[in-house]
Amino acid sequence: MDRKRILAIFAHPDDEAFGTGGSMAHYAAAGHDIYLVCATRGEVGEISDPSLATPESLGQVREGELRCASETMGVKELIFLGYRDSGMAGSPENEDPRAFINAPTDQVVQLLVAIIRRLQPHLIVTFEPNGGYGHPDHIAIHHHTVAAFHIAADSKLYPDLGPVWQTERLFYTAIPRSFFLEMRKRLEALGEDTQDMDLFENEGMGWPDDQVNVVMDVTDMVEAKWEALNCHRTQFGPGNLFRRLPEVDVKVIMCKEYFALAWPEPPAGLRTDHLF
Ligand SMILES: [Zn+2]
Repeated sequence: MDRKRILAIFAHPDDEAFGTGGSMAHYAAAGHDIYLVCATRGEVGEISDPSLATPESLGQVREGELRCASETMGVKELIFLGYRDSGMAGSPENEDPRAFINAPTDQVVQLLVAIIRRLQPHLIVTFEPNGGYGHPDHIAIHHHTVAAFHIAADSKLYPDLGPVWQTERLFYTAIPRSFFLEMRKRLEALGEDTQDMDLFENEGMGWPDDQVNVVMDVTDMVEAKWEALNCHRTQFGPGNLFRRLPEVDVKVIMCKEYFALAWPEPPAGLRTDHLF
């Protein structure tokens, strides 16, 4: 077997779970090497159950949760960049000097270039430009990853960070618009109030369906993915969007993961069911 290395680069614990957890588990189970970079420890944000963590301990607790999920998905190495969660746009945490969005571009890019050159991945996956739903850290990790992807392959830049490496493919995790519509339909069929999902539609959330290049069927990994999601206990509580659906429905929609090929430019109409 041709053993490949996949590097996923995200901002917070749990960013990896829903969009890529099944694919990571799938490729890990097939004998490939999966690496995960997480820019922060998710220090900011709601705690689903106050008995699990305090605002002071949250980063540490979420680190443990991501270690749990990584083990479940078969991740070979988990790397934290050590920045602080910047919080939602407009929150006071945006101003914290340790916040990821305040990190100098050059500093983050150098960290990522060193990781890419050391691990020599065949494939990198990160958020699409809107970061799924516009979280400032998601948008930041997108930009830094795209920059590092190209810089790692440029022999003129940062020669001291290791031998140049051209990663073969860059993918975005790209949850399509139709996914959010289907989710809403399922919730409404159960008589749930879905007003809070207006936001998704008004802001044009979701990736255009016709620009999804890969739909991975991860049905055989759905139990591992479910288990990984459930490692994120401080986030995946009763208030979580996906908890509002019955488990059986969630598992149905979890069986597919969506990606857009960002580099090289995909041939028009490319639609496949595997990442490589
Ligand atoms: Zn996130």
